[in-house]
Formats: sequence, C-alpha cells, structure tokens
Amino acid sequence: MWGKRLISGRACLSALCIAMLWAALAGCSPFREWQAVGLTGSGSADAAAIAPEAKPGEETAILAEATPGTTSPDAETAVQPPKQGGKPLPSPDKPKEDTKPRPRVALTFDDGPDNNYTVRILDILKEYDAKATFFLVGTQVKKYPDIAKRIVDEGHAVGNHSWSHGDLTKLSVKQRAEQIDKAQQIIEEATGTTPRLMRAPYGAVSKDVLATIHDDRMKHVAWTVDTKDWAGSSVEDMYKNVMANTGDGGIILMHSFGGRKNALEHTVKLLPKIIEDLRAKGYELVTVEEMIDSGVYKASAIK
Ligand code: ZN
Repeated sequence: MWGKRLISGRACLSALCIAMLWAALAGCSPFREWQAVGLTGSGSADAAAIAPEAKPGEETAILAEATPGTTSPDAETAVQPPKQGGKPLPSPDKPKEDTKPRPRVALTFDDGPDNNYTVRILDILKEYDAKATFFLVGTQVKKYPDIAKRIVDEGHAVGNHSWSHGDLTKLSVKQRAEQIDKAQQIIEEATGTTPRLMRAPYGAVSKDVLATIHDDRMKHVAWTVDTKDWAGSSVEDMYKNVMANTGDGGIILMHSFGGRKNALEHTVKLLPKIIEDLRAKGYELVTVEEMIDSGVYKASAIK
C-alpha cells in the first residue's frame, strides 16, 4: 500500500517536473522560432545576393545592360561583425537601457524617385511610421527633386544608385566616377544630404568598383532578400519570400520606379502586409544607415 503510494507520489512528481519543463520550453518557443527564421534568412541571403538586380525602367536604361549572374555582389558566408562577449557592440546613439535590441530589418527601394510609386510608398511608410532606404537614380532626381526631398524630410535614408543606371563594372574608371559623382551631386542639391550609401545598379560590383565607392567614403549595400518585384512577382509569392527569408540584419530589395508594366502595383500592395507582419514577429524597421550604426549587419551585404 505505502509502496504503491510512494510510486504514485514519485510518478506525480515526475509528471510535475515534465509539465514544468514543457511549460518552460513552450515559453521559449517564440525565441526558438525566431532563431530558426534568422538562420534560414542567413542561409538564403547569399543565394539571394547572387541574383542580378532588377532591370531598370526604360527611362533609366541608358548604359550597358548587365548580363545576369556574371557580375553580382560577392557570395560570401554571412557573418556578424566582431562581437564582445557574444553580444552585439552597443550603438553609440542608443540609450544604455536598450540592452536587448530587437532583430532589425531594412526595407529598400531602388530606381526612384518618380511621381507615382515613390509617392504611394512614402504615403504608406508615413501611415505606419516606418523608415526605409531609397537608392536614387540621378536622372530621376533631376526630374523629381521635390519627391527626393520629401524622402529625406520624412526621415528616410537615401543612397546613390548611379546617374543613369549603368553597369559600373563595364565602364572606364572615368565613366564610373562620373556615374557616381553626378548622382551624388544632384542628390545633395535636391535633398541637402550627402549619401553615405551606394547600391550599384544590378548590384554589379567588382574590386575596382568597390574601391571607387570606398574612395568616395561610401559603403556598398546589396540585399539579403530579393522580392523580384520589378518582374511582376505576385503579392503572395513576395510575401512568402520575405517572411521566410528575413533574418536579423535583413535587407529587402524592392523598387519605387521602373520594372515591367504595372509590376510595382504589387509592391504597393505588399508593403503594408510586410510592415505589419514583420513587426508582429518582433522586427524593428530601420534604415540601412541605422543598421550600419548599430554594428549588427551581414558583412556579405554591406561592404
Ligand atoms: Zn536599380
């Protein structure tokens, strides 16, 4: 009788222990899920970074077209910058109590500004109080300086995306410098801001192109998730791609001008969904500049 009670008492204790352990694990599951997503994101980031960037809109396609896959950001193992004691380096701009930074993601829009998609994208970002990064093409800034200024006035970051969307790897040193400097100049004139970031058209860089960009005291920014919005990808496909492949330090490539006919209508539809659902997963939406300043980003995407 006593023996039986003892056994059942032990069984109860064991059951209680298992229940407690289960509860603790269940409590951790969102974290585990996030980690798994982060790892997926890193893994596919390199594959995404190899893909050629969107073809430019007709208005910007002035110079040589890139041959897809021949020139692209280096496919390199995604790594975090140096850490101290396993924790990310503190950002000088953040208050001290911010010891547990949320995972960060940067929404980026190339090829604008224009007076249609860029405006609608800005309206959505304003509604959601979300900040993004726009890589601007010089010829478009010349046409729409007020929209370029609005981007900066509303707290977004701007980067240089060349003067006329040429493949910088196929240009002479002089032509390459012109593409970068002319765009830099008109962005400064229109917005009062000097870009610290550059994204080469198609993401096409070589050692020489990177050297020119670094000489101009800019960093080159590729991406970790390519929505292929310019090609007319469906909203559903883009949504699945973004949600499955975004990790901490993720950089999502979209466009605010150009692409195939009406393709960017899908980008406008996608944007509120990914803002809401990335935030629901705990992500903080930051500009690429903020991501660099935080010290936590993928070294394969930002050089
Ligand atoms: Zn582009």
